[in-house]
Amino acid sequence: MLTLNYTYRLYPDAKQQSLMKEWLETCRQVYNHSLRELKDWLASRKCPIDRCSLEREYIIQANVPFPSYQRQQDALPKAKKKFPRLAEIHSQVLQTTVRRLHDTWENFQKREFGFPRFKKYGQFKSFVFPQFKTNPVTGWKLKLPKIGDVRINLHRPIPDGFIVKQVRVLSKARSTQWYVVITIESDVSVPKFSPHGRAIGIDLGLERFLTVDDGSSVERPKFLKSLKSKLRLLQMRGARCQKRSNNWEKAQVTVADLHHHIANTRKDFHLKTAHSLCDQAQTIFAEDLNAVGLNRGMLCKDCVDASFGQFLSLLEWVCWKRGAYFARVNPSGTSQTCPECKAYVSKPLSEREHLCPECGYSVHRDCAAARMVLLRGLESVECCRTEYSVRQTLVVPVDNGESKVPVGSRSAGGENLGKRRRARNAAL
Ligand SMILES: [Zn+2]
Repeated sequence: MLTLNYTYRLYPDAKQQSLMKEWLETCRQVYNHSLRELKDWLASRKCPIDRCSLEREYIIQANVPFPSYQRQQDALPKAKKKFPRLAEIHSQVLQTTVRRLHDTWENFQKREFGFPRFKKYGQFKSFVFPQFKTNPVTGWKLKLPKIGDVRINLHRPIPDGFIVKQVRVLSKARSTQWYVVITIESDVSVPKFSPHGRAIGIDLGLERFLTVDDGSSVERPKFLKSLKSKLRLLQMRGARCQKRSNNWEKAQVTVADLHHHIANTRKDFHLKTAHSLCDQAQTIFAEDLNAVGLNRGMLCKDCVDASFGQFLSLLEWVCWKRGAYFARVNPSGTSQTCPECKAYVSKPLSEREHLCPECGYSVHRDCAAARMVLLRGLESVECCRTEYSVRQTLVVPVDNGESKVPVGSRSAGGENLGKRRRARNAAL
């Protein structure tokens, strides 16, 4: 089973927009109400049964069961009679809203962090239609139940053999832009990729965004920093307006628009970088960075701007799509170890050159870290041990024997690929 998410831009008219905003607001209230029930029940169970607590009492009787997803979902039809506003929304949209709360709650129990929170006005930004009998996308229109035909920019068609499973409507930039995430599914099995072809290790950093073990690097564009002054100006304009006035709302939209633009350019850069890495190699190793920890550290603003977590997850996705193998390796001490002799070389973050006192190996710090990532990656992949020596010599089988090409330059890989393609063409 193969499931993919395709995102498209939606262009609802004014009436549809106000309807969708109303739905979001009602969904938010349903979410908050369900969360209140859950929290009350939990609070009532915290007081010991044989004594009274000064803070908590059994405000809910002892025999009342836990407000599970099933119970809260079953309570929706009754609530609709009491609050006719709920009946205006598609029933499954309300059910998925309750489901969303319980998904968060169940995740919280598993991970022991991330307790669901109440959503403030404007914080609830999406709702889901979980089921479609027929394909809702026809030409340039998306047919949503109870909303009607909404104009969609179908910039890439839904591939043959796929059916639409669910549709999530997203509001962005303070509900001035609308998107839709269409989940499509097909009954095909995708094989798992094993390590093959040229292998590279990459090191992510703030001085250079990315360094490959062969020494090539990608500079770090400063998405937020370059537009910081503009953002500040727009925020100041908003601060001068009277809160909740029309002009204030306009100023908030411009700020949200700029944030949306920054996020878009960053994602575009990440995708392009990931594709260029997949052009170079078929096996990619990267550090398993703790992105959350980095975003709380001393250089948090730069780390958030570089968004390493997003890049790694996008790289994983691009590798899967392009048929490349991707693996994360243990990041501890990659920049403190010499890739040549494995000696521990302690150096502060300000020292940008790796100079090993044991073997005298000297290279840029990030490059040494990338080589270390590659070595660790190759060590972790058992089957590759025989194919690659420590000196990274790649053995590519060609029809008329074997050719050994040192990995290091892009042209070597490309030349070899061409040779393979020519050999294949000649065989055909
Ligand atoms: Zn050394």
